[in-house]
Amino acid sequence: MSKAPAAVTASQELDEFNPFLSMAQLFDNAARLLNLDEGMQEVLRRPDRELTVSLPIVMDDGSTKVFTGYRVQHNFLRGPCKGGIRFAPDVNLDEVRALSAWMTWKCSVVDIPFGGGKGGVICDPRELSKRELEQITRRYTASIMDILGPDRDVPAPDMNTDEQTMAWIMDTYSMHVRRTTTAVVTGKPISIGGSRGRREATGRGVMLVCREAMKRLGRRPENTRVIVQGSGNVGGIGALLLYREGYKIISLSDMYGAIVNENGLDVPQVLEHLRQHRRLEGYPEAESVANADQIFMDCDVLVPAATENQITSRNANRIKARLIVEGANGPTTAAAQEILDERGVTVVPDILANAGGVTVSYFEWVQDRMGYFWTEEIVNTRLEQAIVKAFNDVNDTAKKYDVSMRTAAYVLAIERVANVYRMRGVFG
Ligand code: GLU
Repeated sequence: MSKAPAAVTASQELDEFNPFLSMAQLFDNAARLLNLDEGMQEVLRRPDRELTVSLPIVMDDGSTKVFTGYRVQHNFLRGPCKGGIRFAPDVNLDEVRALSAWMTWKCSVVDIPFGGGKGGVICDPRELSKRELEQITRRYTASIMDILGPDRDVPAPDMNTDEQTMAWIMDTYSMHVRRTTTAVVTGKPISIGGSRGRREATGRGVMLVCREAMKRLGRRPENTRVIVQGSGNVGGIGALLLYREGYKIISLSDMYGAIVNENGLDVPQVLEHLRQHRRLEGYPEAESVANADQIFMDCDVLVPAATENQITSRNANRIKARLIVEGANGPTTAAAQEILDERGVTVVPDILANAGGVTVSYFEWVQDRMGYFWTEEIVNTRLEQAIVKAFNDVNDTAKKYDVSMRTAAYVLAIERVANVYRMRGVFG
């Protein structure tokens, strides 16, 4: 008797949208290919440490509000934990867990001596004053002090946090340890130990992997139509650098909506409009499109550079792009990746495509510890070398195992961490 195809149940959908389960599914696939034994899989899948903190803050109106913060350290076998801190209303522990694991794999893919960590505070930065944001940042830093440090865990910017946030973290940490410790965070302003080229690094990495993928596909940038979901540090700068390489950027978006111009947007002008008006809406030489429709429009390359769970099993069939370059962390669910694989869409996965940021974070940490700062040219040259090498390593692994670039990136990353684990052995 033939059975009707099972409908997607609510719990399957919940699982698909849980980034940690999505990460775990991709991890398990790669671990199987590597024949990792059960014990090793368990060690590498689980976060090493999770900290939840309550942050009482005196608000501008005199009331006291308690915010919740997290810092998850997924793994530090290869070095100090590394990863950003995000401020957003929907931050939750499973998301931070997934993001911290992705940092472990990301640092391993680009072969920098860090493990993975991630932090988050549940708050809506749009509703907070600068003073309130500073208080939250300082209290959060003080609350996770015991597990931070240049040799332990080194945060960086992520969604809704920036150079100013990093300066507050550096100052709070330094005041506690009674010495200026610049290497405790990366993504700082250049004047207090930041690295040249760090701000643009994630976008630059996106541009570089796109260039490498295009070469493999035998395509040139000219007349290649690109849709960028997002317009922040990753999407905005990524779009600008792609535009300068000759790609036609036909659409950009922000949290309020998307803009489209089939003839190609003048990206520097769009970013200037965004700087002045704080939203893309109203940019004169483009039409408005709802965010819900943007990623399904006709294009050659799609750069999701906003947030998680954008390409899912429900919509992966509607994507027109033949190449997806993931500027965001986790924009494609594990189930959607399978559909894209069947359709022959090339996906440059997040843990490779957006690794430019953490690579220059590593350079920043090195410069801080040396007390000797590099030119932007040196930073950019070393970034390019690291990203091109990582791209080639992933590509070779994909060929060797006959798998997608996503699975290959996991295989490569997990194998490197597993080798360290084998060499170090189990303590205790
Ligand atoms: N938040 C960025 C990421 O997801 C940068 C992390 C870092 O530089 O430590 O990769």
